[in-house]
Formats: sequence, C-alpha cells, structure tokens
Amino acid sequence: MKDYSLYRAYAKVDLGAIKNNLISVRSALSGTSNIIGVVKADAYGHGAAKVACAVREHVGAFAVATPEEALELREIINDKPIYVLGYSHPDAYADLIEKDIVIAIFRYSDALLLSDCAKKLKKKAKVNIKIDTGMGRIGFTAKEALGETLKISKLPEILICTSFMHFSVSDSKLKEDIDFTKEQQSKFTNYIKGCEENSLTFSHVSSASSAACIEMPFTHATDVRVGILMYGYYPSKSVSRDKVKVTPALSLHSHAVQVKEIEAGDSVGYGRTFVAKEKMRVATIPLGYGDGYPRLLSNKGRVLIRGKFAPIIGRICMDMFMVDVSAIPEAEYGDEVVLIGRQGENTIDADELASLTDTISYEILCDIGKRVPRIYIQ
Ligand SMILES: *Cc1c(COP(=O)(O)O)cnc(C)c1O
Repeated sequence: MKDYSLYRAYAKVDLGAIKNNLISVRSALSGTSNIIGVVKADAYGHGAAKVACAVREHVGAFAVATPEEALELREIINDKPIYVLGYSHPDAYADLIEKDIVIAIFRYSDALLLSDCAKKLKKKAKVNIKIDTGMGRIGFTAKEALGETLKISKLPEILICTSFMHFSVSDSKLKEDIDFTKEQQSKFTNYIKGCEENSLTFSHVSSASSAACIEMPFTHATDVRVGILMYGYYPSKSVSRDKVKVTPALSLHSHAVQVKEIEAGDSVGYGRTFVAKEKMRVATIPLGYGDGYPRLLSNKGRVLIRGKFAPIIGRICMDMFMVDVSAIPEAEYGDEVVLIGRQGENTIDADELASLTDTISYEILCDIGKRVPRIYIQ
C-alpha cells in the first residue's frame, strides 16, 4: 500500500480494545461458558484474519456465516473449532470436511448428503444441529427436532458435536419479549434433554449471542456466541451498558481535500438539496457511499474537524461529501476528519450514524467498504 492511500480514508482498528472487550464479556459470564468469537462478515468490517489472530487466546472457537469465510479463516486458525452458523451448500461439504469445519445442519436430506460425502473422503463430518425455537429463520422446528436429530445420529459418518439456536428478541426489556426469550430457551432445553434421554449428549450447546450474554444469564450454556460486544458496541438501546463495559474498536478517518467560501444562494451537491442562506465555509471530504458511508446521512450527519462538529450539507456522493465548517474558522485543506471515533473532546460512534439512518451499528460497521484500508494498532 502506498503512503498516500491512507490520506483519502482509513479505518483504524484497535485490536487491544477488542481483546479487552472480550475480557470484559468473560467476567460477566456465569460459570465456565466458552466464548465463541463471531467473526462473520469480515469480523463486522474489522478484518477477520487480524481479529481472529488477536483474540485466539480469549475464545474457545470461532463462528462465521458462510463456507467461504470458514475456509479462509482455517488458513490462519488451525487449533480451534470453526462453526458455519448459516447455510452451507452441499457442493462445499467436501472442502469443509477436509478442513474440519463444523457445519450447521437443519435438514435430514442434507445430513445424508454430508454423510455420503464424508464416506467418500474416509472422514467424519462434524455437525452443529440448528434448532428454530422462534427466530423463524433456519433450523429444525422444535417439534421435529428430536426425531430428526436421532435419525441423523444414526448416520455413521456424522459426528454430532453441538447444537445451537438463536434468539429473536433477547435485546429487549419488554416483559412480553423476555417471556418469549424464556420460551425459546425452554424449547431448546427440552430438546437437549430429549436427546440426552436417548443417549445423545452434546459436548457443546449455545443459544446466547451478545444481548443474552448481558441480560439473560439463564441462557449461558456450555458456550455463548459473542459478536457485536467484541467490537465494542451494545446490541440495542435497551441492553444495559453497566454490566459489561466495552469500547468501540474501530474509527474512521479522512482528510479535507478542499475548504472554500460560498455565497448566499450557492448550492451544494447533487439535487441542490442544500442552498446557502448566507456566506459560509464548506469542506469537501473524499469518501462517500462507495465506501459504505450511508447516503441517508445527506443533510443529517456530522463529522469532527479540529475537535469540533461539522454538519453534513447536501447529498452524500459516491466518493465525496461536504460539511459546513463556518463555525470552525481554523479549518483548512489537509485537516484530519473523523467520521467515526474521537477527536479532541468529542466522539461520534456507529450508534449515532445508525440512529440517523434508521439502522443498527452492526450494519454501519459491516458496510465500511473494501476501498477503505484498515490499519491495526495493539
Ligand atoms: C451474528 C450471529 C451471532 C452474533 O450476534 P451478536 O449480536 O453480534 O453477538 C450469534 N449467533 C448467530 C446465529 C448469528 O447469526
């Protein structure tokens, strides 16, 4: 990478913060639950390879969403289980078996295909049985789960290592949502019990992700799956900030490439959605929705320049956007701009961008594009 490539934009990822966040989660967990580090979607935009290496001592296993992500991670991590939490196409089975990846299974016919594939390779296939207890996404329904699991357990080449489920409202404090979470957990517990009564025991089971890690100790099984907390954000506004202290690991930086004066009546950006009411100073930032900076922040968001907030004016373009620096007279070409992170006394976090654009921090972080180089600090 050329030195100048960091001038336009870069994301700085603090690997030490990610480690500390995990240590913080660890101390909040009941008993001896293993942490499964969730590094799907390139570790929520932070860079899966770097993150996985940095936290390997702090997790018992890793989880990703796709076979491709699992195989890429396996190049670096060879001493820990890797789970694919999402769907794996049967054409990926051979590669996954060869690389000892644990595959989520929620259909008997897939288990059959997997068993056949393993037989050809003269290996065992490791599976993670997915139960749908109310998320309505993937998984055996609670009704069919026991019968299907017992059928799968008879397949000679299949090793049922673990089982898991996912909550749909564990980040909510409403009574009806807490009740629903409890119901989901008890369906899962009953299923596990049913398996045990049929001499099928799991060495690992998990239901909690970040939200339940904090709010629902009764969900802490042999394992918990930790994603967003590791990156320093809370799953939602209603999740307590006091029980587990985490700090954002990623900041997003750029530089002002032009600062100029405009007159009353001058417009800024596509569609002329912003028209100056008076003489003002405008700075142009060379990053846009092509870098994952949301276009919905048009005329809404703000950035930090010289430690002060500068409001976004006009529409975000693909590769640039403009801010009002009238209140920052010292602002000039070349100034550092912070889009996410801290500058001086002030901070902008991904939750702020998320609430302005009607989404969640997860999406803001994942969307930070390939065109933005990541740099790492310990
Ligand atoms: C993404 C995901 C997680 C991690 O969720 P966080 O809220 O980021 O902790 C856990 N489990 C499953 C099945 C997921 O898809």
